[in-house]
Amino acid sequence: MKIAIIGTGYVGLPTGVGFAELGNEVVCIDKDAAKIEKLRSGRATIFEDGLDEMFLSNVRGGRLKFTTSMQEGVEGADVVIIAVGTPPHPITKEADMRYIHEAAEEMAGFLRGYTVVATKSTVPVGTGDEIEKIIRGRRSQADFDVVSLPEFLREGFAVHDFFNPDRIVIGANSEKACAVLRKLYEPFAGKTEILFVRRRSSETIKYASNAFLAMKIHYINEMADFCEKAGADIYEVARGMGLDSRIGSRFLNPGPGYGGSCFPKDTNAMAYMGRQYGVNLSLIEAAIKGNDERKVEMANRVLDVVKNIPDAKIAVWGLAFKNGTDDCRESPAMQIVAELLKHGVKLRVYDFKAMENAAKILGNKVEYASGVMDAVDGADVLVILTEWPEFRQINLEEVKELMNTPKIMDLRNLLNPAEVRNAGFEYHGIGR
Ligand code: NAD
Repeated sequence: MKIAIIGTGYVGLPTGVGFAELGNEVVCIDKDAAKIEKLRSGRATIFEDGLDEMFLSNVRGGRLKFTTSMQEGVEGADVVIIAVGTPPHPITKEADMRYIHEAAEEMAGFLRGYTVVATKSTVPVGTGDEIEKIIRGRRSQADFDVVSLPEFLREGFAVHDFFNPDRIVIGANSEKACAVLRKLYEPFAGKTEILFVRRRSSETIKYASNAFLAMKIHYINEMADFCEKAGADIYEVARGMGLDSRIGSRFLNPGPGYGGSCFPKDTNAMAYMGRQYGVNLSLIEAAIKGNDERKVEMANRVLDVVKNIPDAKIAVWGLAFKNGTDDCRESPAMQIVAELLKHGVKLRVYDFKAMENAAKILGNKVEYASGVMDAVDGADVLVILTEWPEFRQINLEEVKELMNTPKIMDLRNLLNPAEVRNAGFEYHGIGR
């Protein structure tokens, strides 16, 4: 099939690579000329495990192309996938729909023959109707259907998740569109549950799922705080809870708060929709507030540990919002760093993949280390903010020798507390 993808970011690029790998002819469109230039020169624009090789082999095989031209990509496509950003509005926090509207306006003139327009971006309920109206307004005779095709991939596992999704949700109000998507997802039939639902249900499924996961994380974080005060261990508690199949063991890891480009934005957008419809989404509202406060509380814990050290130097390991990605958007690590900066402390930071993205935000406010050891050199406390498993392999003796005072704040509970304490460190984790 011929597929056009509008928006070649964290979702659009792995999706394009995945569909090309399945044998489709894919054209990825982006209005960011620098991004397209880089992709055309054979370099992937994001870090994702396994992406580079698959990207290159499909470019070389002629199945994957990149362009800034809407016409070049959309004309003749059987399916046009919209994967542009839907960032939060700076004031209301609702999903900012300007890129979606632009994409719909821009593509309308180039639809040829029957085309399915599929929205992969996370969009408010009713967006399918809006896109339909925009296209119809520009091309009253166009032959098309708009479907909702929410994306559930996890950053860091985008390639794996493309080929092994838990489910594929298709929100379509037309049988003709369902037939096209059945064909597109044929390689997944029998292996993955493909759920056909109404378009508005599909749009809701995405927000309801992300809000639920965010609340689950916030819940275990609150339980971790409780465990600290009550003398319980959050891991024993989480294991005991997770063995109940109604609860499930995943997403029960305590940490510094949820983050990333999706959970904060999607919980806020869902809360906004609730208010618009006059529905009380009190659980989601509480999770948003508690999660925001948590970053400040985490920074305060760090400050407390160095409160008696004049001109304290803080080493930070990890800036990405989670391991396996270079993405710093709404990263709890970055928010905690920002909070610490308000108190005038000196920070020296390091991340395996996110240095470039972090530097775009932090500028000259922090020092950038060249490696893990360089980060801790002369530090009074080491704060671990992203759960890169590589941090576990680091020689604690060497770290101790380099540090001014041997203190570790492990806000991801990455290290073994007993080992760290035996190595002579003051250790602070979460929930135990
Ligand atoms: P992104 O910012 O990485 O990529 C969006 C791309 O769209 C950018 O490169 C931008 O230049 C391009 N773009 C915007 N308007 C355009 C236009 N009119 N024409 C061509 N290109 C245009 O965003 P992302 O993280 O890939 O997210 C995209 C959508 O997918 C969002 O709605 C997000 O909520 C959703 N989503 C993201 C994830 C994730 O893990 N990142 C997971 C599931 C769903």
